[in-house]
Amino acid sequence: MTQEELFKKLIAHCKEYGFIFPSSEIYDGLGAVYDYGQNGVELKNNIKRYWWDSMVKLNENIVGIDAAIFMHPRVWEASGHVGAFNDPLIDNKDSKKRYRADVLVEDWLAKQEEKIAKEVEKARKRFKENFNEEQYLATSPRVLEIKAKMEEVHSRFSEALNANNLEELKQIILDCEIVCPISGTRNWTDVRQFNLMFSTQMGSTADGANTVYLRPETAQGIFVNYLNVQKTGRMKLPFGIAQIGKAFRNEIVARQFIFRMREFEQMEMQFFVQPGTEMEWWNKWKNIRMAWHRALGFGDDNYRFHDHDKLAHYANAATDVEYNFPFGFKEVEGIHSRTDFDLGRHQEFSGKKIQYFDAERGESYVPYVVETSIGVDRMFLQIMSAAYCEEKLENGEERVVLRIPAALAPTKVAVMPLVKKDGLPEVARKIIDELKYDYNVAYDEKDSIGKRYRRQDAVGTPLCVTVDHQSLEDGTVTVRHRDSMQQERIKIEALRAMVDEEVSFRRLFQTIKEA
Ligand code: ATP
Repeated sequence: MTQEELFKKLIAHCKEYGFIFPSSEIYDGLGAVYDYGQNGVELKNNIKRYWWDSMVKLNENIVGIDAAIFMHPRVWEASGHVGAFNDPLIDNKDSKKRYRADVLVEDWLAKQEEKIAKEVEKARKRFKENFNEEQYLATSPRVLEIKAKMEEVHSRFSEALNANNLEELKQIILDCEIVCPISGTRNWTDVRQFNLMFSTQMGSTADGANTVYLRPETAQGIFVNYLNVQKTGRMKLPFGIAQIGKAFRNEIVARQFIFRMREFEQMEMQFFVQPGTEMEWWNKWKNIRMAWHRALGFGDDNYRFHDHDKLAHYANAATDVEYNFPFGFKEVEGIHSRTDFDLGRHQEFSGKKIQYFDAERGESYVPYVVETSIGVDRMFLQIMSAAYCEEKLENGEERVVLRIPAALAPTKVAVMPLVKKDGLPEVARKIIDELKYDYNVAYDEKDSIGKRYRRQDAVGTPLCVTVDHQSLEDGTVTVRHRDSMQQERIKIEALRAMVDEEVSFRRLFQTIKEA
């Protein structure tokens, strides 16, 4: 199965099993807007909990807030979003399709890396056990040629982005002979800037309505509350403010399912530090965040850092955590050193002093900020693409199983009476009553046990508990594990402890290991 086929199957699976539906589907959907279904919302809530607790509960010096989506319009002038929250867009005149010019070049660069990987594979086959990859990469004329071209394009690209040189960006696209994937032609328009913020009107027109924006990031809600939280919480530097909430961007090209949406959710934490210590904290947060990702157990090799080619107007260092999606390594999270830009600008635009009095140093200053910013939906897609698995079983049957980390699974335990009579449903209900205050538990009595297992596998339920006639005699049940499909017989009284051990957040948190 190609990665593309896998991705299509994953999207179909998300719909069929109540994870994600296109928004307003009965009206044929709305571009790049999605709704979460009965299983999706549970997984999403669990992702948020994993993030929130790891920030707010496990760190004494991080607190949370929940700011409004609407903010004073001046906020977006101060933050630079009115003037500079743009993407460079380019249209293909034949297909009439619109693209982000920077993404076209990034995709081209990624393709060159793939070309090199293919050359290496070919050579590995040719030279067999004598193959020395390092030496080959350093000497093969073909590889060196691709690398040289990549380096040249990469440096022109970074320069063009940083100088906002749109003509040069177009020239790179032409020089690399990048074609439109739909029309296959190089008939491109000029590159233009496009502001990504959605705006609307607040108040009635008679009163003189104000243009307000739907926030394109949650971070500004934290910055404008910095003083409120610092004072009322008596917070001392370094400290962090965390927030989870909706953000909106009128993305030019919204593709790849929930990877790029127009309405999405962010989990952001702004960490306020003494000026001069920001690089140390930036490195620390890089490690902490990478460990948080890796603890999910999807394979360390599937994550990497990617430093930004173009630093945003507010940053002095920035990196992305990338995950190996079915469509390649792509950003899941950004870790940015934002300097004192945001607080400084709000101080300037609001006329209010936004500073920290450092008793040790005996002076006041605007703190520096290190931010970690991750999309809930992108994390959702990351987990679904890592978890989706089609397996052939020993008996020749096939199953689709979602290997979602147990603590994040929508349903933790499915309890199943073998038959719908003889008092078995009553025992099953009693087990559910014992677990339901702490865990999401499902009851299922329809179809054969085999079919019921398949249904639970398809939504990622880690444990299935079967109640049979023997349960009535000796108070034991069969527990079946999702990943190994191993079954064991245990006492009903021991069930609770077993569920705690297998699916609790505690266990997940304990696996986070910083490098
Ligand atoms: P990209 O380069 O992919 O547009 P970005 O660098 O603009 O993303 P940030 O502004 O750093 O993204 O946002 C932080 C995080 O928010 C991203 O790492 C991503 O997980 C998430 N995110 C940003 N834009 C979207 C979107 N349109 N849909 C879903 N998630 C998004």
